[in-house]
Amino acid sequence: MLNYAETHFKFPVSRLYRKEPVILIDAPFQICPGLPCPVWLIIRKANQFPVCINEVYGEWKNADGQSISFKLPVEKQFDKSFHFEELDFEKPENSTGIWMLKIFIKYRIDKKNKTCERWNYPFLQPKPLIINFLKELPPKPSGWLAGETHCHSSYTLDSVEFGAAPAVLQKAAKSVGLDFVCITDHSYDLISEKKFQKMKNEIAGAETDNYPSLHAGEEISCGNSKNENVHLLAFGNENYVEGHGDGGRRWWNTDPDLPIQKAIEKSGVFCFAAHPKLQMLFAEKLLLKRGHWSYRDLTENRISGIEFWNGFRGKDFYEGRELWVKCLLSGHKLLPLGGNDAHGDLNSYTAVKQPLWSLKHNNEHIFGQVRTVIPDTGKTPFSELPENLYITDGPALWLEKESGGKFILHARSTEDFGKFLSITIFRGEEGAEKIEQMKIDDSLSFDFEARSHTALYIRAECETSMGKFAMTAAI
Ligand SMILES: [Zn+2]
Ligand SMILES: [Zn+2]
Repeated sequence: MLNYAETHFKFPVSRLYRKEPVILIDAPFQICPGLPCPVWLIIRKANQFPVCINEVYGEWKNADGQSISFKLPVEKQFDKSFHFEELDFEKPENSTGIWMLKIFIKYRIDKKNKTCERWNYPFLQPKPLIINFLKELPPKPSGWLAGETHCHSSYTLDSVEFGAAPAVLQKAAKSVGLDFVCITDHSYDLISEKKFQKMKNEIAGAETDNYPSLHAGEEISCGNSKNENVHLLAFGNENYVEGHGDGGRRWWNTDPDLPIQKAIEKSGVFCFAAHPKLQMLFAEKLLLKRGHWSYRDLTENRISGIEFWNGFRGKDFYEGRELWVKCLLSGHKLLPLGGNDAHGDLNSYTAVKQPLWSLKHNNEHIFGQVRTVIPDTGKTPFSELPENLYITDGPALWLEKESGGKFILHARSTEDFGKFLSITIFRGEEGAEKIEQMKIDDSLSFDFEARSHTALYIRAECETSMGKFAMTAAI
């Protein structure tokens, strides 16, 4: 995954190279009722290319034809490697629904005055920010916590990508309605124990009062059964686990440093397979020796779960879910995990499409959009394995175990996320799942009684009219 896009990588020659810092504007994709809407000006590599930002101006618009214009004089010199400058201009107040933010930046570099819209990325059409001011808090059972389980901070910093500062992620997490954030920077970007401890210290020093909790972890590159590099999410590991194989810094040797099981043992914590069926370029497979997680990799190592919902529901989600079900049916009750793999990317995702040549922009990896919701046991998330959880980008869907093989399936949505289109129960039985569609109407809230009888497990999924989705763990 490659973003925010870094364009200063020019070996041997890059069409993307500019003698300018990267300049862009970012803001959370949704704002919970009554919470602020922070908007950041992000500047990267101003230490090499100092820049003066003169002014930021633009317009908010919504579908009802309302608009708010603003002009913010900045007149400030930027000269550090990273800047995350929160901008204070007029925002829609007491007005819910989707707003579009068109924003321009006037800057001066090498005595030349320039203006760009949203970012100064070359050959990438500017897109307005889209922000959903929610009418209600995202639904969630009381006593449960919603978290981001896969994201990158500014400690992910290399020739092609960089993330947002932990404090920026924490503030954004609050606005979008998260309770915790697991920061999982790449082992090949953390490089050493020293840098890992620096990240842990910065995260440990984050705000605590009334803010989502931040937890340091690591996305470890390790070797699958074919000795290809796959990614492993470790939460709360005390010490750095090396994994430089596919970091792109060691072209002469792309072999994994540790096999999966060794990396898990070294981390000393519960570990999850990251994006098991990630779609990748042929060049990534060839030059970085990247591979996929197989059934064997998942069942022969002490894996606790699979993050097959990695920001969006594409081919990798469906293939990953199929692999998960195969594991469930053979008695391996792995937990499903939802994360976003965002590198900053609070509103949309910008990344390198073809190295040295072109960039892309889409909505596939937005910070805090897909969440993993777990019961609050008072302990640090994932310091123990949750007994129950669900993953969602909108509605709440959870199974409650009662006595005598009885379960209650709860489903909740809101006007923001839409009515239910389907609620489905899956029972794992002898080599296949039995599917039961539940009877629903226009209600935003359902409680069904279900029995598992002879099933190996029971699980559920739901989809709403706004294209939102949720699924439970198998219990
Ligand atoms: Zn990864
Ligand atoms: Zn990642």
